[in-house]
Amino acid sequence: MPIASINPATGETIQSFESLNESQMDEKLQRAADSFQKFRRTSFAERARMMLRAAEILEGDKHSFARVMTREMGKPFKAAVQEAEKCALVCRYYAENAERHLADEIVKTNATKSIVRFQPLGAVLAVMPWNFPFWQVFRFAAPALMAGNVGLLKHASNVPQCALAIEDIMRRAGFPEGVFQTLLIGSEMVERVIEDARVAAVTLTGSEPAGRSVASIAGRQIKKTVLELGGSDPFIVMPSADLEAAVTTAVKARTINNGQSCIAAKRFIVHAQIYEEFETRFVEVMKAQRVGDPMDEATDIGPLATAQILKDLEEQVQVSVAAGAKVLTGGARFKADETLSRGNFYEPTVLVDIPRDSPAYADEIFGPVASLFRVGGIDEAIELANVTPFGLGAAAWTNDDAERGRFVDELEAGCVFINGMVASDPRLPFGGVKHSGYGRELGEFGIREFVNIKTVWIK
Ligand code: NAP
Repeated sequence: MPIASINPATGETIQSFESLNESQMDEKLQRAADSFQKFRRTSFAERARMMLRAAEILEGDKHSFARVMTREMGKPFKAAVQEAEKCALVCRYYAENAERHLADEIVKTNATKSIVRFQPLGAVLAVMPWNFPFWQVFRFAAPALMAGNVGLLKHASNVPQCALAIEDIMRRAGFPEGVFQTLLIGSEMVERVIEDARVAAVTLTGSEPAGRSVASIAGRQIKKTVLELGGSDPFIVMPSADLEAAVTTAVKARTINNGQSCIAAKRFIVHAQIYEEFETRFVEVMKAQRVGDPMDEATDIGPLATAQILKDLEEQVQVSVAAGAKVLTGGARFKADETLSRGNFYEPTVLVDIPRDSPAYADEIFGPVASLFRVGGIDEAIELANVTPFGLGAAAWTNDDAERGRFVDELEAGCVFINGMVASDPRLPFGGVKHSGYGRELGEFGIREFVNIKTVWIK
C-alpha cells in the first residue's frame, strides 16, 4: 500500500511519501536505543512536565490537527476536534497518575524486605490504524512514555500527515530526540522492525489478520505484545429499557466515526415485545442522518476512509442480501454532489432477516450498516450476542436488575455497558477477549503492560 494522504471526500491525492530505506531505519532504531538509556533515568516529574505540555499543544492547536485528520481519513471535523481534546485528556491522566500506578509495592514475605518494582522495557513499536488517527497513538504513547519507554510509531499508510503531526507534538512538548519517532514504512517492513534486537515489545491496533501476523512474528522473537483488534459488538434492547434513548444511542453507536469504530455497535438484538417499535424508530433516525462533506458542521456521516474500505463494505452487504437479508433503508453508495462525486460515501443502511452464514450476521462491518435481530428472550439475546468470534464491547439496555446481572456476567466481551454506548475512558481499562485481542490499554492496567514487573528480595 503506498504511503499517501488521499482526501476520501474528494479522491484528491494531497501528498505521497517515500518509505524509509534500510539505513534510515537503522539510524532511527539506534537513536531509539540510545535515547532509552537516558530517558529511562528521567523522573516521573520530568516526564509529566513534557506530557502536560503535549496536552496543551493538543488543545491549543486542536482545530489544525482536526483538519489534518478529516482531510486524511474523512471523520466529521467536529468529531476530529473532540478527538484532539480526548488525546489531551489521556496525556493529563498519565502525567498525573503514572507515578502512583508504578510505585513500588511492598509485599510481606520471609525476607527482610520484598518489593515489586515496575521498570520500562525499552523501545516499543506501535502499529496503529487510521480510524482514530490521533487517539489510538496517544493512548499507547502517554502510558508507554510516562513509564520510561521510548516509542516507535508505524502508522497506517493512509495517515502519514497525522503520524508526522504527532511526532512534531512530542518534539515541541520537549521529549528528547529519539524518545518518540514516526517510521514511515509499509506493513511489509514491520517484521524487520520486530525482529530487531533494539525493539523490546510491540502493540498493534488493527484487524484480526494483522494481529495474527504481528503476534506470530513477535512470538518467534519472544517479545511482549498487546493486540487491540476488531469487534462485532452487540447492542441489546429489552422491554424495560427507555426506548427513545435506546434508539438515539443505537444510531449514534452505529454511525460514530462514519461507522468505522472497533467498538461501534454493529448488531442490534431487540426483544420481540418492543421490536416493531424499535425497528420503525431506528430506521427513521438512520434515514435522517446527513451524509456529506466531513468539514461541514451539519454532517453526521462523512466518507469511508479509503476506496478499498468502501468496496469491501459494498461487497459484505451484497453478499448478505444475495443470501437472503432484507434492506430496510440504504444498501448502496451515496451519491453526493458534484464536488464530492469521487468521495467514498455509503448510505446509512439497516438490514434484517440476516441468514446465519452471511457477513452481516457476525462479521465486523466497518461502515454505517446495522444488522437488526429479533429475539424471544434473554437467553436467546445472550446466545446471539456471543455468537461472534469477537469479544470487544457489548451494550445492553434494561431497567431490570436480574437481567442486568446476567448481561454483566454472561456477555463475552472486554467491557459491558448498561444503558449506554460502549466508549473508552482514560481511567478505565480497554481491550478485548476472543479474536478481539489481548492485553489492556488505559487506566492502571494499560501502563503496566509495557513494564518489567521486577521482584526484589532482600534478606
Ligand atoms: P489493518 O489493515 O489491520 O491496519 C492496521 C495497522 O496494521 C496499519 O498500520 C497497517 O499498515 C498495519 N498492518 C496491516 N497488515 C499488517 C501485517 N500483516 N503486518 C504488520 N502490520 C500490518 O486495520 P485497519 O483497516 O487500518 O483498521 C481497522 C481495524 O482495526 C478494524 O478491524 C478495527 O476494529 C480495528 N480497530 C481496533 C481497535 C481496538 O481498540 N480494538 C481500535 C481501532 C480499530 P498499512 O496501513 O501500511 O497496511
